[in-house]
Amino acid sequence: MAISDSDTVSYSPAYTIVPTYECFNRCTYCNFRTAPGESPWMTLSAVNKILQQLQKQKVCEILILSGEVHPRSPKRQAWFQRIYDLCELALAMGFLPHTNAGILSLAEMRQLKKVNVSMGLMLEQLTPKLLNTVHRHAPSKLPEVRLQQLIWAGELQIPFTTGLLLGIGETQDDCWETLNAISDLHKRYHHIQEVILQPHSPGHQQSFNAPAFDPEQLPEVIAKARQILPPDITIQIPPNLVNDDQWLLACIQAGARDLGGISPRDEVNPDYPHIQEQTLKEILQPGGWKLAPRLPIYPQFDHWLTHDLKTAVKHWRDEGLYGDYPTR
Ligand code: SF4
Repeated sequence: MAISDSDTVSYSPAYTIVPTYECFNRCTYCNFRTAPGESPWMTLSAVNKILQQLQKQKVCEILILSGEVHPRSPKRQAWFQRIYDLCELALAMGFLPHTNAGILSLAEMRQLKKVNVSMGLMLEQLTPKLLNTVHRHAPSKLPEVRLQQLIWAGELQIPFTTGLLLGIGETQDDCWETLNAISDLHKRYHHIQEVILQPHSPGHQQSFNAPAFDPEQLPEVIAKARQILPPDITIQIPPNLVNDDQWLLACIQAGARDLGGISPRDEVNPDYPHIQEQTLKEILQPGGWKLAPRLPIYPQFDHWLTHDLKTAVKHWRDEGLYGDYPTR
């Protein structure tokens, strides 16, 4: 079944595996991290058990979402190997891995491409002024370092998801500048699948003392993003962070067409439970929108995959539950 109709909104039936919550950065809005050494790493056998359970469910995407071990830490190689092994395991069990593990070296990205159908990294905001505020103690948030990741993903032909974090001290012009940078890179490499527009939503752990990004502003940002971004990039919004049915519909009306990975828990925003599929359908229906599942790789990128990954993706596409995706 093709789902390319313009009245379709997609989502990815997903499950998030967190190899480790430890992170050497300290972004002040973070509700995810623990200090290095303070939380045990996820073992392969524990993940194996989880994945066995998931095989009985409708889950396709395994999102590997990790805190970062410092590139010069003696633990870096073991950290990277654990992520690689988890992806390999998920793939062997029939799932499609998508990794977002923060800043990676070119060699690490090249390795992970072998066991991921797509990868991701939020650009967040490019303005350097955040290095004096929310990113004062977050070396991975240097704008040029994050832009470099998007360039490497393009050079390596990795289908990529990126996005903006809204409401962390940027101006509107800063947002447009970040969107323009994504647009420029996509025009060069044609590798960006989706841009997430994620409103800052305060949580229990963060020290950043600022209100939530006003959801009433989100449709305007989406409409402007739709103007800036090339039409083959889908705009994604996290529905659990737009806590009002009418504003969620307004976001779709403004141009958002994807609701991201829906899993039991939002690891990045644990204070905001995911809205599950049936409820989302009921919210969208009055607006005339249909909700449809998608894979973590869009069909136009299938030819970038290795033989093994292509076979795994084909298996899911042949099931007929996942079709082409809306882009506008
Ligand atoms: S937001 Fe990401 S990079 Fe920043 S501290 Fe949290 S886990 Fe680390």
